[in-house]
Amino acid sequence: MSGGPLPVRTRAAVAATRVVSGLSRWLGAGSGTVAGGHAGLTLDPHLLEHLATGRRVALVSGTNGKTTTTRLLAVAVEGTLGHAASNTTGSNMPTGHVTALATSPRCAPAVLEVDEGYLPRLVSSLVPEAVVLLNLSRDQLDRTNEVRMVANKWRAALSATPSVVAVANADDPLVTWAASGAAKPIWVGAGLSWRQDAVGCPSCEGRITFATGGGGGWSCTCGFTRPRLDVACVGGDVALADGRRFPVPLALPGRFNRANAVMAAAAAAAMGVRWDDALRRIAGVHEVAGRFAVVGVGGCTARVMLAKNPAGWREVLDLVSPDEGPVVVGINARVADGKDPSWLWDVPFERLRGRTVVATGERCRDLSVRLHYAEVPHRTVTDEVAAVRAAWMAGAGAAGGVGAGDADGRVDFIGNYTAFTDLMARATRVGA
Ligand SMILES: [Zn+2]
Repeated sequence: MSGGPLPVRTRAAVAATRVVSGLSRWLGAGSGTVAGGHAGLTLDPHLLEHLATGRRVALVSGTNGKTTTTRLLAVAVEGTLGHAASNTTGSNMPTGHVTALATSPRCAPAVLEVDEGYLPRLVSSLVPEAVVLLNLSRDQLDRTNEVRMVANKWRAALSATPSVVAVANADDPLVTWAASGAAKPIWVGAGLSWRQDAVGCPSCEGRITFATGGGGGWSCTCGFTRPRLDVACVGGDVALADGRRFPVPLALPGRFNRANAVMAAAAAAAMGVRWDDALRRIAGVHEVAGRFAVVGVGGCTARVMLAKNPAGWREVLDLVSPDEGPVVVGINARVADGKDPSWLWDVPFERLRGRTVVATGERCRDLSVRLHYAEVPHRTVTDEVAAVRAAWMAGAGAAGGVGAGDADGRVDFIGNYTAFTDLMARATRVGA
């Protein structure tokens, strides 16, 4: 499995990747991952396979939680396998993978976030040790494949690659369908709060029935049913089929991050890491690529969160619902966001009733219509920083004086992809 010397053409491609990505960063044209990877792949179309040879490789895919789970898995394996090469900026197509591997030592393990559409190709070409399958739900309606088609392609790739361990969320019927093709599935009860894309049975086209009471069971009359769990979440613990049980202490907030942590730890365990070591390392992660960070922006303090599609928004709205402070919601509809914002109608914005709400971003007027029908009084401020300031001031007014925001003196900002990254580009980090 050792790498051996790389062919001349591959070495040239690695050099090109490093130079172009470094130059691109130096010129301030972003993180340089796409440009660098593109240069390398132009010189050697098989660069990714060459760079992955001899490494321990894990892939992470799914509609929601990829970036967070990738980071948690990279952290979880570090003590046992060493520092992992990883596409930490969320650049989750082959250009990003090439740059992550070309700029790391050749013996480092690789933990890669993979776009759902690219996963089958990477499973076949890299033959990873483990693949983490989180969930499948509607996202970027103008660009991506329909989720059932994605599940079928995942299933075919896993069936053809029997050495891969598939760490799969058994609470998602589409993920279960896909991972049922794997020779070595590990079934994790990671939960599924958004079920609208999972009601049709992928096996018989009948209807999936979900058990009531939050136990996560589901079944179809054809016999397709949730598999017996290897890893279950019980209260704040993770419970294994062999009877072992571990607490899951987390700095990251929210049910979905607990699920991401358990999926990451299960994958690390599949790669030979001790459960307690994986969970202890994961507990030390306070933010991922800025998500959940507390930042200074426009003279105010804001907690920033990213939500890109209805499933993600539902989770983040659950997370902020116990709070009472002002909320800024930001929507753009650029290529990276998906240009069709009609998914706004699938998001339960009704949960923001009673809060001070400011709508912002390039599509704040679409958002405003949606909030109007959700009966959420709000203001509309196109500029994101001005929107945070407006929310902060409104919070100060409601508090009757100097203090602003909620009890912690902050505004919650929830944005989709470019709304989030635009705000972060104008923010300063003050803590997590
Ligand atoms: Zn069925």
